[in-house]
Parts: sequence; structure tokens; C-alpha cells
Amino acid sequence: MLCPFCKSQDSKVLESRYATDKASIRRRRECDACKKRFTTYEKIEFFPVTVVKRSGIKEKFSRKKLLKSIKLASKKCNISIDIKEKFVNSLEISFFANSQKEITSEFLGYKVLEFLKTHNNIAYIRYYSTFQGLKTASELINEINLLNSSN
Ligand SMILES: [Zn+2]
Repeated sequence: MLCPFCKSQDSKVLESRYATDKASIRRRRECDACKKRFTTYEKIEFFPVTVVKRSGIKEKFSRKKLLKSIKLASKKCNISIDIKEKFVNSLEISFFANSQKEITSEFLGYKVLEFLKTHNNIAYIRYYSTFQGLKTASELINEINLLNSSN
């Protein structure tokens, strides 16, 4: 890593920690030559992931879009943005770790449902009804009953 002060190539790492987004690592370094300190960031490089919808249409996985749908379902449900961001980060990391370049919208939906179920039942039910396309009140009541019996 090139020292920004004297351009020496040798430096040592004093401290490493996750940046607030949890998808990059912040390192505090000290130049061996001039002893000045500087900071570097390592960003995890994610490859593009394709989402295959039920209709067969493919689209690029978008963390922004996923977060938006989670936010919509969990409105006023008291799940902090930090927890939601962490969930999406962990998903991206798992795609990367498992070399999953293509996922189905069902898979993604179930992952979100698993996440919401552990945090808030209302958000879970909201997401479930959009995801499964529930049409009738009785379908929804059935799901709520299942949820209650599993808790
Ligand atoms: Zn230096």
C-alpha cells in the first residue's frame, strides 16, 4: 500500500475494523519509512446476482429494491434500519460465499420471510400476503393461525 506522504510501499496495519456498512474494512496504517499514519478501506467486491422471477423474467438483484420492499412491509414495526441493512449484507455475503450468481424470487422471498418472522409478526404477514399474492381474508387468517401455533 503506497504511503500518501512519501510514496514508500511498506506500511504496517495498526488497527482493522468493519466500517459502518459492514461490507468494507477500515484499516489504520503506519508508514515504515516516514512513520505517518493513514487510513485505507477494503471493499468486498460482490459479483452481479440475477433474480429469476416466477414469470421467468430475469433481473439484476438490487439491494436497494430489496431493502425498499422490507421497509414497506415493516413500516411502524420497530425493526431498525441497521438490522435490515445487516440482513441484506448477510444475504449478499452468502451469495458470494456460495457462488450463487442466479437465485429465484421465491428463494429471496423466503429468506426475507425467515428474517421478518424472527423480528416482527405484522411485518411477516404483510410481506407474506404480497409475496404469496393472497386474495382472500380466509387465506390470510389461515396463515396467521399457523404463525400463532408455531410461536
Ligand atoms: Zn511514508
